[in-house]
Amino acid sequence: MSKISIPVSTPFLTDEAKTLVMQCLDSGWISSQGAFVEAFEGAFARHIGAKYAISVTSGTAALHLALLAAGVGAGDEVIVPDLTFAATANAVLLCGAKPVLCAVSEKQWTIDIDDLTAVVSDKTKAIIPVHLYGNPADMDKILRFAERYKLCVIEDCAESLGATLNDKHMGTFGDMGCYSFFANKLLSTGEGGMVTTNDGPLAQRLRILRDHGMNPEKRYWHEVAGLNYRMTNIQAAIGVSQLKVFDEFYATRQQQEAQYYARLSEHKSIIFKETLHGAQPVNWLMSIIVDSDNKAISNLSLQEALRENGIDSRPFFYPLHIQPPYRDDRDILQRTTSLANRGLSLPTYVGLTEQQIDFICDVIAQHLSQ
Ligand SMILES: *Cc1c(COP(=O)(O)O)cnc(C)c1O
Repeated sequence: MSKISIPVSTPFLTDEAKTLVMQCLDSGWISSQGAFVEAFEGAFARHIGAKYAISVTSGTAALHLALLAAGVGAGDEVIVPDLTFAATANAVLLCGAKPVLCAVSEKQWTIDIDDLTAVVSDKTKAIIPVHLYGNPADMDKILRFAERYKLCVIEDCAESLGATLNDKHMGTFGDMGCYSFFANKLLSTGEGGMVTTNDGPLAQRLRILRDHGMNPEKRYWHEVAGLNYRMTNIQAAIGVSQLKVFDEFYATRQQQEAQYYARLSEHKSIIFKETLHGAQPVNWLMSIIVDSDNKAISNLSLQEALRENGIDSRPFFYPLHIQPPYRDDRDILQRTTSLANRGLSLPTYVGLTEQQIDFICDVIAQHLSQ
């Protein structure tokens, strides 16, 4: 096996990131007390078109905090898609509530609207649509459903920063939007996250819960038990630098997707996701379904062929319903298994060159023609 020379993802840090981080170190402002935290939150809120942005330590922290702020607790149920990174469901379990798995659309890979009525109950308190692999979920229908059943809507935007639906950023449709700034995400602060909302009292609750549950007017006085989910000034400094180049990075990723499409769409056995009318997805990871008549060709055989050429790739997430903490044997969820068993994500990052994408597509073409 040869060495990996093209990773699936790698962060791109600008020179300004170094300058701003050095400012933190030189000035001693290295905790969450520091000017970059508010600057990053303000710039992020403006970028998304949300009134408030509350920075946190990770995407998981963002989801956990959002659920706590929504009042989700023991005995409650929260609808999550069967195909997502497990943090979406873990955050629900962390609240003492139960994640209830909803089927995903075979074409869009996001929550299947038609399955929602099958999973809702009088215990359902919230729903977390995930804009998986940058593809906007059907927010119009989800909001209508949520209104009917009085559910809080928390959008998991960890993979969809920059994606829009009818020219509105994902994360601004529901009550709250949650973002991750892990190293492989669309904007990175190393580790980090954000919750956005347009609701003032909710924003206040999020800030209090993030800061130990402490009363902002009365230090060391706690009306509620909270957490320390505060982002550091150093992370926020990187965030400020990343946001400045975000639009440029977004465009680069879209170009990469166009190049992949142009090369890969000639293969009958490669299927792409479909997008909603009015949706402008973001190319977080170029993701494909490998569906060949040749039994020797699968997502895993392709992963192996790529690896032999020094190219890393990632199979889709395992369906949640087959994993121990979230097990569910509803028949319809087997659709996720079939999807996940064929999915593969290809290298996508700022710094990946046209020549490298061509090389990746050459390797794929060669493998498929066997
Ligand atoms: C990455 C990710 C998260 C978790 O974010 P962390 O910052 O790693 O905690 C949550 N949901 C989805 C869909 C993700 O891709």
